[in-house]
Amino acid sequence: MKPLALVTGGNRGIGRGIVLALAQRGFDVAFVDLAETDDSAVTRQEAERLGARAAFVAADIADLGQHSRIVDAAYAHGGRLDLLVNNAGISVARRGDVLDVTPESFDRVMAVNLRGTFFLSQAAARRVLADASGTQPRAIVTISSANAVMASVDRAEYCLSKAALSMLVRILALRLADAGIASWEIRPGIIRTEMTRVATEKYDRLIGEGLSPMRRWGEPDDIGRAVAALAAGDFPFVTGEAIHVDGGLHIRRL
Ligand code: NAD
Repeated sequence: MKPLALVTGGNRGIGRGIVLALAQRGFDVAFVDLAETDDSAVTRQEAERLGARAAFVAADIADLGQHSRIVDAAYAHGGRLDLLVNNAGISVARRGDVLDVTPESFDRVMAVNLRGTFFLSQAAARRVLADASGTQPRAIVTISSANAVMASVDRAEYCLSKAALSMLVRILALRLADAGIASWEIRPGIIRTEMTRVATEKYDRLIGEGLSPMRRWGEPDDIGRAVAALAAGDFPFVTGEAIHVDGGLHIRRL
């Protein structure tokens, strides 16, 4: 029986990159997204072409009432749960000055990125710890952002949500180590997806000027391969760690 990964936000972008990289590494996958669309079909078909059994689960991770159904769906699909990848997240609806952030925007970003991720992780971990069959996930991987540590004045609520996820990763690492479950954080840099499409020209220019020492956009596959390498079990004595997948963007320079 193949290991089973549950990936949130798998319809497109980084989530799809993660689903496909895991499929390539021998995982079956259940992936969550807001609604079943043509994008979901693409992710599922490409994962199946790579030899995985792939299932789509429609759910909003901001709705805590749906979390037990999400975990149930993963177990129904794979009979076990080995890996949770917290990828689903949103950016701000409109970039703007920190002094203009509205409570509505703050609450929405936190509801998805932090609250949804926190409680889904809790639901998955509880279920796995109670699983009498003894199968347990090897890991929870949380996709935060370079903005967990790099401040953007025009996306304050996003940065705050990602900084908090960074702490969640370490808290989960502490709580779950005895159960043999690792918790890792991946901090993507600037990755070419729908989320960054609004700022394509800006990032083209900045990357060309050397914003990241590796002068290229990241691709979803860059993140997928990092997740798959962790999930493959090659880091057995590492937990609570953050990996920057950003072409060196985070390196402070003088
Ligand atoms: P994206 O917008 O292209 O894809 C996000 C996916 O998540 C979409 O399919 C969307 O429908 C889904 N989603 C959003 N809210 C959801 C919810 N409440 N419940 C279930 N699914 C939901 O974005 P992306 O660039 O692929 O980003 C994926 C993750 O990577 C996010 O957490 C984002 O913050 C993070 N990230 C992205 C970049 C980047 O440069 N693109 C950089 C750093 C971090």
